[in-house]
Amino acid sequence: MAKKPLTNEELNELVAGLHRLSRNLWWTWDQGAQELFSELSPRAWQNLYHNSVAVLHELSDYELRARLQDQYLAERVRLVLKAFDAYMGDTATWTHKNAAKLKANPVAYFSAEFGFHETLPIAAGGLGVLAGDHTKSASDLGLGFVGISLFYREGYFQQAIDHNNWQTEFYNLLNPKNLPIEPVLDDTGEPLVCQVEIGMNQVSFRAWRVNVGRVPVYLLDADLAKNEQHFRDLTLRVYGGDSTTRIMQEVLLGIGGVKLLRAMGIAPSTFHMNEGHAAFLTLELIREKTAAGKTFQEACTETRAQCLFTTHTPVEAGHDRFSPSLMDYALQRYRTGLTVSTSELLGLGRVHPQDQSELFCMTVLALKLSRAANGVSELHGRVSRHMWQSLYPGKAVEQVPIGHITNGIHLPGWMKGPMRQFLRRKAGEDWEEQVNSEAFWQKMADPAVLSDEEIWALRYRLRRELIEFCRRRLLIQGQRLTQGDYIVFDALLNPDALTIGFARRFATYKRAPLIFQQMENIVRLCHDKSRPVQFIFAGKAHPRDDDGKRYIQHVIHLSKYTELKGSLVFIENYDIHVARQMVSGCDIWLNNPRRPLEASGTSGMKAGCHGCMNLSILDGWWREGYDGTNGFAIGDDTHPASVEEQDRLDSVNLFKSLTEQVIPLFYQRDAQGIPRQWIQRIRRTFETLVPQFTTDRMVKEYAQKYYLGK
Ligand SMILES: *Cc1c(COP(=O)(O)O)cnc(C)c1O
Repeated sequence: MAKKPLTNEELNELVAGLHRLSRNLWWTWDQGAQELFSELSPRAWQNLYHNSVAVLHELSDYELRARLQDQYLAERVRLVLKAFDAYMGDTATWTHKNAAKLKANPVAYFSAEFGFHETLPIAAGGLGVLAGDHTKSASDLGLGFVGISLFYREGYFQQAIDHNNWQTEFYNLLNPKNLPIEPVLDDTGEPLVCQVEIGMNQVSFRAWRVNVGRVPVYLLDADLAKNEQHFRDLTLRVYGGDSTTRIMQEVLLGIGGVKLLRAMGIAPSTFHMNEGHAAFLTLELIREKTAAGKTFQEACTETRAQCLFTTHTPVEAGHDRFSPSLMDYALQRYRTGLTVSTSELLGLGRVHPQDQSELFCMTVLALKLSRAANGVSELHGRVSRHMWQSLYPGKAVEQVPIGHITNGIHLPGWMKGPMRQFLRRKAGEDWEEQVNSEAFWQKMADPAVLSDEEIWALRYRLRRELIEFCRRRLLIQGQRLTQGDYIVFDALLNPDALTIGFARRFATYKRAPLIFQQMENIVRLCHDKSRPVQFIFAGKAHPRDDDGKRYIQHVIHLSKYTELKGSLVFIENYDIHVARQMVSGCDIWLNNPRRPLEASGTSGMKAGCHGCMNLSILDGWWREGYDGTNGFAIGDDTHPASVEEQDRLDSVNLFKSLTEQVIPLFYQRDAQGIPRQWIQRIRRTFETLVPQFTTDRMVKEYAQKYYLGK
């Protein structure tokens, strides 16, 4: 019996529902929703880089309606929409039960970058990805929460490699029409426009809203016709330009962000500064209070009670410092509203307020005007207390008021499709509701629930998918092995080999090429026919970081012109999509930063839930996560004082762990060909790491420790 065709009304509802769904990033962490978009046009899905809004634009309304007469498809659309609506309307969230008072007055979370998804490339690296994951979990938990950032219309750069293996940068213009963002409108339906004083000018800006589940994130955009061109270009690129651009971007973000919230009638209970870039927001909070009649001191005290600050790096260059003359220039007009002398203002950003030669530091400003501050791992908390002790004269290091909350990841958002499908089959339809719990991962670690064979089959599938992804990319990158007249790009990488991944920003302290210091030994390991090892690298260097670019050049050179060819590849244009392929498909996630400069690190957390294990220096999160059974360590919980000695020792220890532990364990197979002990470690990874290092746990900690408290 044929089913009754859908009525026009039913079709309208489904079509409208799909459009609504495409414009809420919830779909990026729902498997069913993703499958719908990819199925509507598999080719557009790939070519448009998984952009749901753009995919829907590819289909005529006529086609979409015709397709929805396939009742099986229509039913799946209905189910996904039902799940989406249930999510959006849920009134029994963690917040309702535990933090109800945060509902009316949300947390305003300011970050210069947010990494949500590969189609909205407005993040430079881990900081932005963390902000994105924080937001997704805030939504899952039902927290009252709004994000503030900038709409960079050229985003962060796209990486290409020239014939000298040198990184070059290019930029794609983002088209708001093809992105999951919506204009913020005023009462008359026109774009809401606000002003901020920068230099001697009134700079106008508008805003775009990104819907991240239940949470709105507002992106400020200065590209308005009434602004002079150089102000329009303030929101051109992530961390673009020189320090003048930088300070102006930060004025827009911090001061403009508060103005936007006020214009929308949002009254946050807490202003959370994710890194110092947004710290100018404290000035606007002070200005509001002095304008209402408070003294400067009173205003500072009250502002402090409203603000919270998270510092993210011990690396000096990660802390913005501006000269007094640049401060003077950028704030010359704004300052007059502050009822405070220039020297008092500059003092807010100085460790020694009277020292006229000291630069104005955004981290200092944020620390001075927050009720609480934290680092992003236990060790980083400790390092930060040392670093900023001089701000708190008379206090012993342990008394410096900087705590820590260790970073995490948004698990459902990071899991690759096959992993989600696997868990759905194993744990049932409601697996996502349990995925952050320890009990869930204890179950997944139980051999009675998941057999060694099943885990091994999954690992093979994920590795195979990564290798095919790499081969496709390498073909596009123009790297091919020829054999006679044939291109044999399938000869690059071996689906049976122990696959080691390294991908992150190529900041020099992360020491990407460290492992190749032992070049001969590494070549030997790669060529070992019975126990082969191979490497996949990716990452971007900051456009002005020539040392980082030299590291990239070195790795690519090794991959093309040495005996490592075929066993070492470099995947260009690292981003969230490449990251997901790599953390899921590799067997080992390598991290060898110069301790203690990796404040937390998060890419290794993304690996664990796929059964990819960490081999890492005991820095940042790994120092807390590693217990001797759930992955591999390089060296111990100390580091030598001299950098040279550290590099030498770490390189030796890296090779030692690799050859004495990792490789033997991976290749120790039983009669069925299964590496039982390796899989035992994967079970320990599931059990002891995956539920610990989530943003679900992290945001709950922020809420209980900082957002709720005074
Ligand atoms: C997770 C992630 C990072 C952070 O990686 P770390 O190893 O923690 O520095 C950077 N970039 C992208 C695209 C990521 O997904």
